[in-house]
Amino acid sequence: MPESVSRVRAAIYPGSFDPVTYGHIDVIRRAAEMFDILHVAVLDNAAKTPLFSVEERVRMLRNVTRDIPNVVVESYQGLLVDYAKKNDIHISVRGLRAVTDFEYELQIAQTNKKLSDGSLDTIFLTTSLEYAYLSSSSVKEIAYFGGDISPCVPAEVAEQVYRKYQERGAGSADAAKNAAGV
Ligand code: ADP
Repeated sequence: MPESVSRVRAAIYPGSFDPVTYGHIDVIRRAAEMFDILHVAVLDNAAKTPLFSVEERVRMLRNVTRDIPNVVVESYQGLLVDYAKKNDIHISVRGLRAVTDFEYELQIAQTNKKLSDGSLDTIFLTTSLEYAYLSSSSVKEIAYFGGDISPCVPAEVAEQVYRKYQERGAGSADAAKNAAGV
């Protein structure tokens, strides 16, 4: 049997997930059907100021994917290609919502291909229509202004987003910065 036939098919779905939305979960479910194991990799990026700590984001993702047995949620620092190499993964999964995502995603995909000496390829899943409008930043902005985010995120995530803004005191400069996704 050729080596490629017996190999475990693993993929990585990297992102900020600040917080995880139904759009992300839809991509996770579909990718988990396609691969034997799907690593959901949460970027711990010191350059960004996320609303949730990386531990909180990992915890929320683990909770909302607990019914999908072949999903592993972990955080990573640094380059995606290093995480992929360490875990012997050769496919990265990204979601495409609209043409506006395309240029950015293409650039990242080509950079990762180059940085990995050709070993990390990227595949794109187009968003399901009902989630095309969804982004973590719009969820934060809606919650910040007291709107209903229940169509966008699972109830347990919504609860934590509202709690976070309460703790930070919506209206503070910090909360406003996060709501704007900067
Ligand atoms: P990043 O900061 O790396 O863009 P995100 O958490 O915003 O991290 O997104 C991670 C991935 O999920 C990206 O490929 C993004 O295009 C995709 N994504 C985000 N929202 C949706 C959605 N509603 N439908 C499909 N894909 C999505």
